Amino acid sequence: MSTLEIKGLNVEINGTPILKDFSLTVPKGEVHALMGPNGTGKSTLAKALAGHEDYEITSGQVFLDGEEITGMEPDEISRAGLFMAFQYPSEIPGVSIANFLRAARTARLEEGEKINAPAFYKELYEKMDLLKIDRSFTSRSVNEGFSGGEKKRCEILQMAMLQPSYAILDETDSGLDIDALKIVAEGVNKMRGTDIGFLLITHYQRLLNYIKPDKVHVVYDGRIVSSGGPELAHRLESEGYDWVKEVAPQPAGA
Ligand code: ADP
Ligand code: MG
Repeated sequence: MSTLEIKGLNVEINGTPILKDFSLTVPKGEVHALMGPNGTGKSTLAKALAGHEDYEITSGQVFLDGEEITGMEPDEISRAGLFMAFQYPSEIPGVSIANFLRAARTARLEEGEKINAPAFYKELYEKMDLLKIDRSFTSRSVNEGFSGGEKKRCEILQMAMLQPSYAILDETDSGLDIDALKIVAEGVNKMRGTDIGFLLITHYQRLLNYIKPDKVHVVYDGRIVSSGGPELAHRLESEGYDWVKEVAPQPAGA
């Protein structure tokens, strides 16, 4: 049961249904892309899975390797092994990236256990080198005054340091120039392997030129309406999203 399993999820925002019986399984070791027109519920899925309080799960369940995470607090979900890179990451003024990552790693230790600071920094610098991130980056406040590309790089660094079982990246390509996009893709491709599953949420096919997904799913009106291989992303690039409406279930009475 090494999967991220989303079963019949219904999510409301302020009483408005957004996700409708949404189901998806991402096996560990695979990279799945979730694509779809704007406003169809992709970011809602990411936030609901992360345990955001404004996104009410009215029914359905989410399992990480068989452990139910539905209803858990965001920090518990994170410690259970789910990492989330948001479309619009928050700024944390006054907290340096190094201290932020150290706190996040410390929170994952057993009670009474202490972080090995030299080993932590050694690993941090190795991963920064791998991701081509300048050393001066670590002393800057998290996301404060960062460019779009720097914010994304910061999130990839967080992901590399937290080594989650599953990672969801929401529109990691939006607003990135090609160089920054390649760094993000390189980061994902370097981390990709048997012990992690990825869900890449993206409106455009562009990111998938650099990260080859195992499966592609198309979401429309709060549910998956089509699934396939990488060729599905190419179809979306050449034909756009118009055909998606045709294959979507029609609302009752239509
Ligand atoms: P996507 O990421 O696919 O573009 P979203 O999940 O952001 O779509 O949005 C899905 C729907 O939910 C949209 O109709 C959007 O207006 C609505 N929505 C998203 N977030 C909120 C919010 N915080 N409050 C009210 N409505 C929201
Ligand atoms: Mg979105």
